[in-house]
Amino acid sequence: MNSSGSTDQRPLLNIALFGPPGAGKGTQSEKIIQRYGLVHLSTGDLFRKHIKEQTALGLKAQSYINQGALVPDEITIGMVDEKINDSPEAKGFIFDGFPRNVNQAKALDRLLNAKNCAISTMISLEVPEDELKTRLKQRAKISGRVDDQDPKKIQTRLDIYAEETLPVAAYYYQQEKLMKVNGVGSIDEIFREICTALDPLQS
Ligand code: AMP
Repeated sequence: MNSSGSTDQRPLLNIALFGPPGAGKGTQSEKIIQRYGLVHLSTGDLFRKHIKEQTALGLKAQSYINQGALVPDEITIGMVDEKINDSPEAKGFIFDGFPRNVNQAKALDRLLNAKNCAISTMISLEVPEDELKTRLKQRAKISGRVDDQDPKKIQTRLDIYAEETLPVAAYYYQQEKLMKVNGVGSIDEIFREICTALDPLQS
């Protein structure tokens, strides 16, 4: 609802940033936020914050994350709903690491519909698996993330991505919202390609 009490809303730029672990979603999110003034909603970051603060949600999520498994949908979707509601003045959101399965994608559509808005586009960062593994190995040295340290856990995350998350791209393709971007290249080159997709969507 806006300040006048009406449920009419100006169109928001809501982006789902999609790609396997190590595709560069976090890096590109930062640049997108700077240019388009969106609220960053990274489910991975939110979970890590909950874990650090030892909240009830963090304690529930921790074991799944440490194994490289997906956190159950009801926990994840509830957390996203709360974050959207915490940002009533947002010009739009960048969803990073969410939705990660088709059930979450449908839930996100319902959450946004209830606010008279929708996903504007899904940007899919395309990176070959060999390159992802190399990047994740590098990231493990500095991220301190438990799920980056063990090659088995990395493989689990890549397998889950292939089985559960890839169908989300087909879901948005059917809605004519899928935009593929080559995720190999310099950070600025990749960002330029993203901007080419996003600039025309700005109202
Ligand atoms: P990320 O930082 O996006 O790589 O996420 C780190 C971990 O958090 C994932 O491996 C999952 O265990 C969990 N996670 C993040 N986003 C989701 C999601 N949308 N659904 C379920 N689990 C998630």
